[in-house]
Amino acid sequence: MSQTCDIAIVGGGLAGGSLAIALAPLGYDIKVIEAVAFKAASQPSYDDRTLALNHCSCRILSGMGLWDTLAADATAIQKIFVTELDRPGRVVLDPAEMGLHEFGHVVEARRFGVAVSGQLEQAENIEVICPASVTGIHIGGGQTVLSLASDAGARTLAARLVVAADGANSFIRKHLQIPVATRDYGQTAVICNVTPSLPHQGQAFECLTPTGPFAVLPHQGKRCGLVWSVASEAAPALMELDDAMFLARAERRFGTALGTFLKAGKRSAYPLMLVRARQDIRERLVILGNAAHAIHPVGAQGFNLALRDVAVLAEILADDAGGDPGDSRLLHKYSHWRQADQHSTIAWSDGITRLFAHPSMLAAGLRTAAFMAHALLPGLRRQAASKAMGYRGRVPRLALGEPLRYQ
Ligand SMILES: Cc1cc2nc3c(=O)[nH]c(=O)nc-3n(C[C@H](O)[C@H](O)[C@H](O)COP(=O)(O)OP(=O)(O)OC[C@H]3O[C@@H](n4cnc5c(N)ncnc54)[C@H](O)[C@@H]3O)c2cc1C
Repeated sequence: MSQTCDIAIVGGGLAGGSLAIALAPLGYDIKVIEAVAFKAASQPSYDDRTLALNHCSCRILSGMGLWDTLAADATAIQKIFVTELDRPGRVVLDPAEMGLHEFGHVVEARRFGVAVSGQLEQAENIEVICPASVTGIHIGGGQTVLSLASDAGARTLAARLVVAADGANSFIRKHLQIPVATRDYGQTAVICNVTPSLPHQGQAFECLTPTGPFAVLPHQGKRCGLVWSVASEAAPALMELDDAMFLARAERRFGTALGTFLKAGKRSAYPLMLVRARQDIRERLVILGNAAHAIHPVGAQGFNLALRDVAVLAEILADDAGGDPGDSRLLHKYSHWRQADQHSTIAWSDGITRLFAHPSMLAAGLRTAAFMAHALLPGLRRQAASKAMGYRGRVPRLALGEPLRYQ
């Protein structure tokens, strides 16, 4: 069987699913191919992670019409405390210094998946092909042809534009031999929910350590999302601890800012790598989200960066709505626009991870100087807060709270 469409999005995870929703009003015939059912326990994108979505991302999601569904289960981040392990001093980021009430919100990735699949079901011009996997791609003759495999058998799908949002191990990126820059941090993030004895009051904590951050994010009710990055060889032992031992270890690392940790949820582990594609566009192809740039979770930047990519791609296609979505002019415009933000966000997350992992006195001196400068200088703090909120470089209309213009 063979089908055609205007835009095929491979991977309906956080990035691909969001893009489909942003593009829905453009009226293109869109197909989303996703390997794992949106609400399945094994869904790799919509899992138990608590996602910190910055101010810019929440605005983008609002412009896409997704925020209304997410808001009821979202928790505002009203203060951020940043510390360095076993060193004095801390930096407190307060949205009031920016004239705002919150830096952003925390949403569970699984909840995000429910909202995305609900909205995709309602879009008449979007067909979700799931579960189905892309197993081949051929570009040429003014179209990109995908081979799909599913329980219903093999078929092909020809599209004017294909968006590869198939994650850090992207089949499409590998199949097309698009080169990548990679760095294995030798760190693994162990995540779970914890319930502290004191209310979190919207406070987020990030303690930077040589093996990555120990972060506690405010979550629904009394719960908090814990992201504990450790040396990869120490992760299996941490995963195997019983809850009481795990909580005692977590408490020892975190301190008493939220009292004691009373309860822990299910733990999951994520080995941490930087994977950056050296090209984010090819003829009739855009590479998006983790497929283009999977980064360290320090500072919770990954999906926030991908959402800015989504907002820009949607704006460029909206300004040309009805035209050829795979037109190389549009794809180059997208790539050019996104370079500076992608570069600086990736450089920041990679740089900070390595600076805190570095054992030298020089690195320790730089860290102390940076902490002191941010603690003492409101101007620097405002700059850091503005970056944390996601407003970098040329901001897309959705992030400014303006609607896309559909011609
Ligand atoms: C511990 C941790 C904490 C994080 N916390 C935050 C945070 O607080 N804030 C933030 O902004 N970011 C955070 N991130 C980053 C965030 O998880 C990623 O940016 C996000 O998952 C990228 O989404 P994606 O859709 O590009 O890729 P993925 O989430 O990997 O999704 C890819 C999708 O493609 C599908 N797929 C794969 N191959 C195929 C195929 N051949 N055919 C069809 N479908 C396919 C998969 O089933 C999946 O659904 C965190 C990351 C980690 C590891």
